[in-house]
Amino acid sequence: MVATTEEVLELHGRVRECTACPLHLTRIQAVPGYGPVTARVMAVGEAPGENEDREGKPFVGAAGRLLTSLLESAGLDRRDIYITNIVKCRPPRNRDPEPLEVDACSHFLDEQIHLLQPDVILLLGRHALARLLPGAGGISHLHGERVRHNDRVFVPLYHPAAALYNGGLKDTLETDMRRVRGYLADAEAARARRAGGASASELRKVAAAAGGDQMDLF
Ligand code: URA
Repeated sequence: MVATTEEVLELHGRVRECTACPLHLTRIQAVPGYGPVTARVMAVGEAPGENEDREGKPFVGAAGRLLTSLLESAGLDRRDIYITNIVKCRPPRNRDPEPLEVDACSHFLDEQIHLLQPDVILLLGRHALARLLPGAGGISHLHGERVRHNDRVFVPLYHPAAALYNGGLKDTLETDMRRVRGYLADAEAARARRAGGASASELRKVAAAAGGDQMDLF
């Protein structure tokens, strides 16, 4: 089932009104997420920064521009991707989010994943990795790998902001991002097979209801 625009906008509305943790006191605005409800890829960062807090959209600053060009270099279009963060409000002076803030906020991310059912979830940086794949290992081991967990495909990647300060990481991110294309193709093929499987089982039910021996046909 694909989410409706109304469902996603309703969720965004709740994020914008949220006062569950102290970050609402210092934000200009919350940054729920941005992208089409039909997105097959979701990218999850850490938390909004100064530009995002001002504009209300994720990854619009320097790290966001690098993310856009990394996606492009892998043949992916940012406009096809739903982008969000673990924490929806900017931590003061861009400090790391506190565990209490992550705990208060991450049910929104769970809802976003549940609504959009993305084929591939890109985990941008160690905070996203720790929240969505707790105990899986560190980013330096897992970056670029495909990790299957709870029937979902995750790809941990270095955070684009890290590559702004460490040029060597940019090459690694480019290489890792190119692998995402292949993972996406595999995930889409698996989804198509599941859809085919579902219709075959529907056909089986129809055949059984018709009282036929045709079940063997499927
Ligand atoms: N860094 C993030 O993790 N998220 C943003 O939205 C911007 C920068």
